[in-house]
Parts: sequence; structure tokens; C-alpha cells
Amino acid sequence: MNVSLPILPTSVVGSHAKMGWWYLVRQEAEAGRMGCRDVAEALDTATDVAILDQERAGVDVISDGEMRRFGAFFRTYLRRIQGIQMLPSEKSIGDPGYHTREVYEVSGRISAPEGLGIVEEFKYLKEHTMKPTKVTCTGPTTFASGTLIKGGYRDQKELAWDFVAIVNKELKALVAIGADFIQVDEPAFSEIHRDGKELAEIFNATVDGVKAKLAMHVCFGNHRGRPLVKRTYRKLFPGVLEANTDQFVLEFANREMAEIELWKEVGAKKELGAGLVDQKSFYIETPEDIAERIRTALKYVPAEKLWINPDCGFNPTPRWIALPKLKSMVEGAKIVRRELGYGV
Ligand SMILES: [Zn+2]
Repeated sequence: MNVSLPILPTSVVGSHAKMGWWYLVRQEAEAGRMGCRDVAEALDTATDVAILDQERAGVDVISDGEMRRFGAFFRTYLRRIQGIQMLPSEKSIGDPGYHTREVYEVSGRISAPEGLGIVEEFKYLKEHTMKPTKVTCTGPTTFASGTLIKGGYRDQKELAWDFVAIVNKELKALVAIGADFIQVDEPAFSEIHRDGKELAEIFNATVDGVKAKLAMHVCFGNHRGRPLVKRTYRKLFPGVLEANTDQFVLEFANREMAEIELWKEVGAKKELGAGLVDQKSFYIETPEDIAERIRTALKYVPAEKLWINPDCGFNPTPRWIALPKLKSMVEGAKIVRRELGYGV
């Protein structure tokens, strides 16, 4: 990135909290009661709101809020892939969760002739903000983990390698239109890979030739604010350090900062985008709460390598909770910057 940022820069992981009307738009659009221009206009407006919310909170590096992802997180993009069919959920009664989601069945070799669509999303963001930006793209492992293999591939691991070319092409197209900070999201790594070394191998193929600042986000799942996998990074390290990423974006706040000490063991070569805001909790952290977590992180991470983030996206968080959390994140970073002698 060729922009000057303060020490302890603040950013987001990707998704912004949805407005109430966003859900009405999705409902009407999926029922076929809105024209394509109506949907585009509504999603442009939702993205405008996400941008403004982040700017007003004072976040240093912002995203587009992923407001166009009707299918929640990466599932929207699976719908653009040839060789994959969306089927209804096998379970629809009871509280919604991972088990009530629609099924994506792979029936043959996959391709994405029209790309994933993230290029168009990022173009809109660049045209509507002067702030530094980060663009997020689902990684091959997570794409593959969300599918049911019925044909074309032996297993999800083999399928993941075919997603590498699709994602790599999208990332290069993003760089071509000005993306200088790209985050690849791989929350589902432990569903497919034995360890971090395997994840690093597929990550490196995915970002091959991608000339931008790179981040890898690994969390434990965020659908409906619930985790999906065992909440530890032990399996990830040290193998994942072979990944050609500049930054790891990991979650700590909702685990009461567990495993932050891992960073001391793994060394200071990479940046850490530390999740220090718990977007799953309805408790709204004060700026002092965030400052305290930053101070804890600084025991293990050099200040010049530490970025301040929420644990994951605000997708499942109500907007009236997400907004003060974002503001506290920014104010908490300012408190510690002052303590370190950097002013604000
Ligand atoms: Zn996440």
C-alpha cells in the first residue's frame, strides 16, 4: 500500500452490519418482485451506507461492507460457478444455523467464465471513497468446503485446487483496477487441511503473481454469530508461516485473547491484524476495553506490526451494536497511540 497510515491502523475484516431494509430487499429480490435495476440501486445504497458508517467511525482502511452478498459471505459467488447447482436446505425447521443453509452440489468440473464479480464490487468502492481500502475474496479452501461433491472430483481437497485458478484470476483483475490491499478469507481451512503448511501451499498458488499487500483471514466461523470449528490456531502454526502473505487476520476478542502469546513463538516477520472487537457479543466494548486488549497484544506483537480489527465481519451483528463497536475500536487505538507517544 502506498498510503501513510497511523501506527496501529484500524480496519475491518469485511462485512458490515446490514440495515433492516436490506433483508426486505433480499426477500423481495429472491421472490422475483424487484427488477434488476431496483436491486442494483438498493445494493448501491447499502454499500454507500457501509462506506459512510466506516468513514464516520474513523476506520483507517475500509471495505465495501460486502453488502452485495445475498448468499452470506462466499455463497453468493458459488452461484456464479458452472458445475455447481444450488439445492434447497435439507433441514429448514428450527433455529437457523449451519445445518439449515442451502446445499451447493458439485456435479462436474468447475469454471467461472464471468469471474466472481468482486472486481465490479471493488470498482464501486474505489469510486465512492477517498479512504484507503481493503478488498476481500474467499479462498479456494473455503469455497470447496461449502460444497457437496457428487461428480467431477474425488473430494473437496481436489476441488479446492480448481478454485485456485478462478481466485487467482480475480485477484489479478482486482490489482489491475487499483486494489493494493487484498485479503483472502480461509475460515474453513481446518475442514479440509491437516495443518497450516497445506493451507500455505494452496494460498501461495492462489496469490501467485498478485502484486498487492496481502492478508490471510482465518477465523472459526461466523454464520449467525456461531463458530463452526475448534477454536484454536495451534494446528495452523508454524506451517502457515510459509504463506506469502504480509498479514494474518485472526480472532482473539471472543476467546478472551487466548493464544495471542503464539505470536511470540512464531516471530515478528509478518503483521498481525488482531481481532480485538467481539462482533458476536451484544456487549458494546468501551474504548478502554479495546485499549486494554491492544496493550495485551503489544506484549507479543511489535507496534509497527499490529493492526486493529474486529474478530470477523459484522454480518450477523445488528447495526445499532456494530456502529458503537467500530467507534470504540477507533477510540481505543487512539488511546494507545497517545500512550506510545504518537499523538492521534
Ligand atoms: Zn471470519
